[in-house]
Amino acid sequence: MPVPSLALLARWIVPVEPENVVLEDHALVVQGDSIVELLPQRQLDSRHPGIQREELGNCVLIPGLVNCHTHSAMALMRGLADDLPLIRWLEDHIWPTEQRWVGPEFVRAGTELAVAEMLAGGTTCFNDNYFFPDVTAATASRAGMRAVIGLPVISLPTAWAETEDEYFARGLQVHQDLVSDPLMTTAFAPHAPYTVSDSAFARMVELAEEMDVPIHLHLLEAKGEIEGSRERYGKHPLDRLAALGVLGPRLLAVHMTQLEPVDMDRVARAGVHVLHCPASNLKLASGICPVAELDRRGVNIAIGTDGAASNNTLDMFAEMRLAALLAKGFSGDPEAIPAARALSMATLNGARALGLEDSIGSLRAGKQADVVAVKLDRMETLPVHHVVSQLVYACSRHQVHKVWIAGQNVYQAGSCVRLDQAAVASRAREWARRLRHDHPVESQP
Ligand SMILES: [Zn+2]
Repeated sequence: MPVPSLALLARWIVPVEPENVVLEDHALVVQGDSIVELLPQRQLDSRHPGIQREELGNCVLIPGLVNCHTHSAMALMRGLADDLPLIRWLEDHIWPTEQRWVGPEFVRAGTELAVAEMLAGGTTCFNDNYFFPDVTAATASRAGMRAVIGLPVISLPTAWAETEDEYFARGLQVHQDLVSDPLMTTAFAPHAPYTVSDSAFARMVELAEEMDVPIHLHLLEAKGEIEGSRERYGKHPLDRLAALGVLGPRLLAVHMTQLEPVDMDRVARAGVHVLHCPASNLKLASGICPVAELDRRGVNIAIGTDGAASNNTLDMFAEMRLAALLAKGFSGDPEAIPAARALSMATLNGARALGLEDSIGSLRAGKQADVVAVKLDRMETLPVHHVVSQLVYACSRHQVHKVWIAGQNVYQAGSCVRLDQAAVASRAREWARRLRHDHPVESQP
């Protein structure tokens, strides 16, 4: 048996599985890319004599956060168009900017900016949906970050593909190219029911089964969607998707703010995963996902930030806190989504939705060593009565001290180990100048 390479010693470990457990004065032992065991620190010397030790003091170790829905390259459009309703925001601002500028260089610069932000905030895996997914994958890979790369499908021509056939051909090529990459998997990423044809959905369902990948779809995001679907297809979007075979456990349904109780039962029965993006839904005033009621029905709910153009951060600590608070306020039940459940939604539930439950999402022997050390000895998180409560309700992403993905240290001392942050920032500024040139934003320097 190979010798374990590293022991991380911290005041607390929150493994997430089982939920709401806090281990005190334990060590997490890593061998290569995997977790070997969690054990009391006093047993470390006898179990693993001579092992390299990393003392993390008053830190808590948690599994890396899983950002279950984002469009990473849109980080370049952070703050470009705010305070607008969804359709005007998309049609008058986001889509025209994308049409003019999106290409491999844009996606590279946006993704590296997003990855740098996410790593610094304790996110170790993101589920992406954007054009030029090959570039997204290569950029995440260079930074040592794990990702689920969306293969876009939309029944409109874009810089990535002109026709449905071309979307599928290019997507399948990306999937093939990533098959042996240990940090990357893929998902189909159809944009939304109102922009994807029946034939494309049918083809996707067949391929997703064959490739064993999820289908990652914006669904029931805002009010007009149901009416629009009735006019165009004579059906509620859920009826249309059910008839096409999309409504099942492969479906990752993003947003879901327009659900009647009968729809919630249906989603629960079908085993659909709900990807909740509370900040984006609030900012665009799209509606509110009934998380407490879905959770009561046993639906797997994961959390995403959405793109930085509609959030405007990729901060999973903020999103987790907002998810817990909003669920309470919206349901009128302060016991809904307790802190430990919110933490599960930001970690293990995300892994489960992405089909990565056996490898990430909790700190358990045999899983990948995707670990975040969070400092709890700052004023704003003292005293520590309950670690999980502190993580969800009081902690900010600026308390992330160190991050490992697959056993590799990718973030420490305020910077990403494998990214040149000065170069990332300078490319982001250069892109901001270009985008502003034909999209003047008032009162910016
Ligand atoms: Zn989105």
